[in-house]
This record gives sequence, C-alpha cells and structure tokens, in this order.
Amino acid sequence: APAPISNFIRQVIDADLASGKHASIVTRFPPEPNGYLHVGHAKSICLNFGLAEDYTGLCNLRMDDTNPEKEEDEYIAAIQEDVQWLGYQWQGEVRYASNYFDQLYAYAEELIVAGKAYVDDLTPEEMRQYRGNLNEPGKESPYRSRTPDENLTLFRQMRDGAFADGSKTLRVKIDMASGNINLRDPVIYRIRRATHHQTGDKWCIYPMYDYTHCISDALEGITHSLCTLEFEDHRPLYDWVLNNITIPAHPQQIEFSRLELLSVVTSKRKLRQLVEEHLVTGWDDPRMPTISGMRRRGYSPEGIRLFAQRAGVSKTPNVVDFASLEGAVRETLEEASPRVIAVLDPIKVTLTNFEPGVTGSRSAPFHPHHEEWGEREIPLAREIYIEREDFAEVPPPKWQRLTPGGEVRLRYSYVIKCDEVIKDSAGMVVELKCSLDKDTLGQNPVGRKVKGVIHWISAEHAIEAEVRMYDRLFTVARPDAVRGDDGEYVDFKQFMNPASLTVITGYVEPVVRDAAPETRYQFERLGYFVTDRKDHVAGGKPVFNRTVTLKDTWAT
Ligand code: ATP
Ligand code: MG
Ligand code: MG
Repeated sequence: APAPISNFIRQVIDADLASGKHASIVTRFPPEPNGYLHVGHAKSICLNFGLAEDYTGLCNLRMDDTNPEKEEDEYIAAIQEDVQWLGYQWQGEVRYASNYFDQLYAYAEELIVAGKAYVDDLTPEEMRQYRGNLNEPGKESPYRSRTPDENLTLFRQMRDGAFADGSKTLRVKIDMASGNINLRDPVIYRIRRATHHQTGDKWCIYPMYDYTHCISDALEGITHSLCTLEFEDHRPLYDWVLNNITIPAHPQQIEFSRLELLSVVTSKRKLRQLVEEHLVTGWDDPRMPTISGMRRRGYSPEGIRLFAQRAGVSKTPNVVDFASLEGAVRETLEEASPRVIAVLDPIKVTLTNFEPGVTGSRSAPFHPHHEEWGEREIPLAREIYIEREDFAEVPPPKWQRLTPGGEVRLRYSYVIKCDEVIKDSAGMVVELKCSLDKDTLGQNPVGRKVKGVIHWISAEHAIEAEVRMYDRLFTVARPDAVRGDDGEYVDFKQFMNPASLTVITGYVEPVVRDAAPETRYQFERLGYFVTDRKDHVAGGKPVFNRTVTLKDTWAT
C-alpha cells in the first residue's frame, strides 16, 4: 500500500509520539444513534479507524447517547453493521456515553462542592436573555450565588425526581462576560423524564453533550479526539471541564472540516425527512448517501475508503463532487467485478443464415486479468437481442455500430450485416434481419475492415432480470442551500430528481441467476451492477441495481 499522505492531524500525532506524550494512540468514532450513518460519517470513520490502523493504535466505537427521545436500538445496530462493513473493528465492546452516567454524576457533585457548578431556576427563555450575545456580555443568574451545600441538596433532589422537567438545570460557573458564548455558564444537566434505551428509567436528569463528551473521551483514554469544525469554539469548554475535575487523562480535541458531498444532502435530519415522507424507500434506498444505501447500491467498502482518503483532512471547506465518489467506486470495481453480458434495451435481431448446431461463439473469460475466475460459453442462436442504441437507421458521422447495409462484430462471435429493418405501424424498429459471415469467428473478414464491436445475448438462452437504474437523487448541486426571492431557504425536497429511479426488464446471462445477494458484476459496455441485497433471491428472477456507469455521463 502507498504511504499515507500526511496531514495536520498526523503531524500532531507524530509529534506526540516523538515527544513521548503518548506511547500509542487511541481514537474514537462517536455517533449519536439518532439515524443512519451517511457519507460524512464514513469520512470520520475512515479517519479515526484509519489513523488507529496506521499507527497500530486503537479506535473505540461510542454511542453518544445523551438524548434519549431521539435514539433507537435500530440505529445502534445499523451503526455497528456499517462500521464493520467498511472494514473496521473497534476496540473491545461498543461503548455508550450512558455507561458513564454514574461517573458523570459524581464529577458534577465534585464541581458543585468546589463551588464551580450551581443549580439554576431560570426558565429557558430567561436563560437565553441572560446569556446575552456577541455584542454584549451576559448577566449573572440570581441563583449563581447559591452555596455549595444548597446546590448539592438541590442537585440530589433533581436526580431523585423532586422537580418538574425543565424547571431546574445544573450549570458550570465560568464567565458570563466571556467573548465565547459557550463559556457563559453552560448547562451541563437538565431534567427530562424519558426512558433511555440503555438505562431505562434510572435517570430523570441527563448530562449535556459538551460535558459528556470530554469526560467520556478521558475515561476511555482517548489520546486524540477528532471532531468537525463547528466544535472549534466548544474546545475551551472541553478543556475547562477536564481541568476542573479529578481525572487523570486530558485528550486533545482536534477539529477538521466536514465533508459536503454535492448533489445530495449530508444531514441525518434531512435524510430522515426523505424516509418519513416516503420520498425514498428507506434509509438504505440505493439513492441515499447513507452507508447502508451506498452498500445496497453496490458501492464497495474499498471504493468508499478510497474516496474518503482522497477527500483528505483539512480545516478548509471540504466540498466534493458526487462524481469523485463514483470515480473512486468505479476504480475499485474494475478489478474486482466479473464481466457478464446484459442487454437492457433490446431490439430483436434474426440471423437469417444461422444453422442450428454451430457453436457460434468462443468462450469468454469472466475477467480479462483474472484467468482463475474461469470462462463460460456464450451460445449463439437464430434470434438474439442487441442494445437499441447500437443500431442507427441514419447513422451520425463516425458511427461504428450497426446500420442498414452495414457490418459490425458481435462480441466473442461473428461479424454480421444488417440486411433488412422491420418496423411496426408506428415506425418503431422492432426487428433487424441480419446475416452472419461464417469466416469471421476469431478472425478478421477478408478484404474489408469492421471496426465496431457490440454486445448481444441469445434470446432463447437469456433470462429476464429486474434492473433498477439509478441516477442522482437531486438535480442541483446544493439542494439545501437554494434561497428563494424572499431570501429564505427553499425546501430542499423540491429539487428531487423525478428520474432518479427507472425500473426496467433486461436480459442477462443465465449464470447470474444463482448469484447470492450483493454480488457485483460489470455488464459489459454498460456499467457496474449488483444483485439487490434485499430483493434478489438466488435461483429466482434476478434483481439488479445499477451501481455506476462505466464512464461519467452526468452533465451539469
Ligand atoms: P448530522 O448533522 O448528519 O446528524 P452529526 O455530526 O450530528 O451529523 P454525529 O452522529 O454526531 O452526527 O456524528 C458522529 C461523528 O461523525 C462526529 O464525530 C462528527 O463530527 C462526524 N461527522 C458527521 N458528519 C460529518 C461530515 N459531514 N464530515 C465529516 N465528519 C462528520
Ligand atoms: Mg453530533
Ligand atoms: Mg446532528
């Protein structure tokens, strides 16, 4: 494998290992289990697990589960499956921030006793007013001067359910005049009677994200805590909490820019809308930029990892064209996918001088570079199908495919000549009558050159398959950043591509019938296709998803 490209995070790690600050590294991937992971998370997974791999360190998987209402077991299971499918394994058991609720609670008492946290009775609205804004300092809450004893009693009563939801909070005492709003006495606990998927009804108070995250990192011995740039101005709070409690470790938070992939949306909240409004078939719809959607579409883990590596790590905006995701996927599928022939938009061709009993073709390898994958016979018959777009009644300049009176080679077989075009009453071409040149199997015709080669399939041997042709889910690059005349954002769902899914019946070689779900093929000249993970059953009528075309055909 090529040496990894250095980046600013690697430089920090290199320095920390060189100075002996750490003997080895521990990273973590900390999703909130409130939806399925998307391509942006894939970047973070590849970064965190990839660094651990490269530096022979470890990476934890931690569910950041401090919002019980929005979280579900289904998401927890899907997250684990997605990480493993990408090819990574976390250290030990899956962690949960909720595993640390007891410790988090004890640290909160430590802060109270030290006079660094207080119970506040301000309403959320009052708290907003008191907090101030960037142009004016905040005001101190009248409850800020409660004594440690009073606070300890109140906090324990909060825990024991003595107060109504939302009626009190625990805040840390930092600086109401700070230029960083995050340091104006942030709330670290709120009262919320909600059943938690891990801790049930044990707690009616839940810790806030900023307070939980740094302590969870420290308890797990994380050395480098990588997060996206919007947390840059939360870092002083991350450090403040760890500096003010008795905890032996102090991980370093390092921020990098979020991946934004064009032509899709990368926000769980927006992806959820598509699912809930039935605009897609589910989180794993092959058009979705979720990891499970990309998987079902036929993208390979290697392709996604290559894409993430190329997207790079920096603090500058990471806006990447969809074509570069497709390009990375295509590159990894090229070597890995057996070739078969399919005709997806057929015209019938009758070979008028075909004689039953002739072999008709040579056997064809499943891959030009993988002899070990073997070969299969491609039977010829009197009736075959070719692709409608391989015939032109009035050919454009430099046309090398079939045309009336013209010749073309059938891939792995003979040269044929189009003698007659048959149309229906509407003028649509329904059949071509062709003759084959019997001296051209495995050799050039005598006295003339035939340049074009087209794929074809024997009508009597082919089997029908359901083929789902996918295209971009949105018609604009940034569906969630379009503003209307009033200056407000337009609903991103208005930009969904009505042609993002077309279901057709195609003709494929019989060998694919027995393929397991999630088997990838290249259909020669057409693109990469995969048997659907859910709807394809080995031995039944095949169901294929188009993963990506052979070339980038998207025009913007
Ligand atoms: P979303 O807004 O889609 O819910 P999130 O950041 O709230 O994203 P989390 O589940 O909290 O989602 O994210 C888990 C990890 O993945 C975090 O460390 C986060 O920084 C990272 N991550 C999420 N989205 C991206 C992205 N677009 N690019 C890079 N990393 C991301
Ligand atoms: Mg988050
Ligand atoms: Mg979020």
